[in-house]
Amino acid sequence: MCALKRLPVRSLASGAKLDIPVYTIKGCNPHAKRAYIQSSMHGSEVQGNAVIAALLEVFEQTPPEGDVVLVPNANPFAINQKSAEYTLGRFDPTTGENWNRNYWLPTTRVTQRPAWKTLQRKVWAQMASAIRARLEDNLSFGERLALKLQLLTVGADYVIDLHCANISARHLYAPQYAEACARYFQIPLMLSIPNDFGGAMDESVSCAWWTFWHELQAQGYPDLPPRRELPQGYTLELGGHEVISRDAAKRDAAGVVNFLRHKGIVAGRAQKPKSGFVCSLQDYKTIYSRHAGHVDFTATLGSCVAKGGLLAQTLQFGRTASWQPTLAEESCIPVLHHSSAVIHEGSELMKVFTKVRKV
Ligand SMILES: [Zn+2]
Repeated sequence: MCALKRLPVRSLASGAKLDIPVYTIKGCNPHAKRAYIQSSMHGSEVQGNAVIAALLEVFEQTPPEGDVVLVPNANPFAINQKSAEYTLGRFDPTTGENWNRNYWLPTTRVTQRPAWKTLQRKVWAQMASAIRARLEDNLSFGERLALKLQLLTVGADYVIDLHCANISARHLYAPQYAEACARYFQIPLMLSIPNDFGGAMDESVSCAWWTFWHELQAQGYPDLPPRRELPQGYTLELGGHEVISRDAAKRDAAGVVNFLRHKGIVAGRAQKPKSGFVCSLQDYKTIYSRHAGHVDFTATLGSCVAKGGLLAQTLQFGRTASWQPTLAEESCIPVLHHSSAVIHEGSELMKVFTKVRKV
């Protein structure tokens, strides 16, 4: 059964009120794990909304085993920020801040050490009351929105934040401790992230539990689970921004369902992960343009380019027309590139995986 609630998030100067839809699908097995999935925190990154629509269809046919909370259009203010045809969805237009850097890392201070399941419930309860207390503070809209969303994630074993990036191949961010689990999303390009909180939603889950796990380990807690069984936060980058594809969303949703199957939240046997590439976050390189002009991005996103291979060529007009090549300084996999062909010197041209591990 699917229940819909609308969560109020902002009143506008005109008197209009913004809210977000929260769909809660009750699982048939009370012992199964739980998932939280949101999309469009960045307003121009809309493919995740189509994926949530596809998941709603899937769960209408076959209810999940565990509870699943689905939150599309998570940042209605950002979605409504248009300039000409474009959606300015990634940054708060009034502060310039990235909407996905406002999450908070709650610290846990649990003195008793009961069995893991009980301890986990106590930690979640503590996180929820800490977030509620913080929501009483004097906060910017971005911080308040992030905390309201974060409160919805408490109690979920798996938190999946659906994004898109510039013009890009599908890739995902996974905590290092959950690389093996992340492969079940069937997305072949993976960024492995360390326990280093930078304000993103996925990190607010993974880093909190990762740090807590290390504390327990240091204290010799006897019921310590393997790290891969901790709650996990993921960011999935589902192609380029400003576009959706219903067909692609069915494939994206199938990957999410495969992950949920692997975790027992959806019944049935998960398909084995396909082969792919893993890159540590520190080896994810931004290439800034050495040439100003109009760029033809020649490299195929998601495919390996050898050292010295052509990544892009930039059209310039001097005495005559010329094309300035940008060559790979080391072997790499281009993952995303600038959304426009019009590029100044020193702009972010593209991002590439380097020092990849094949899995
Ligand atoms: Zn994003």
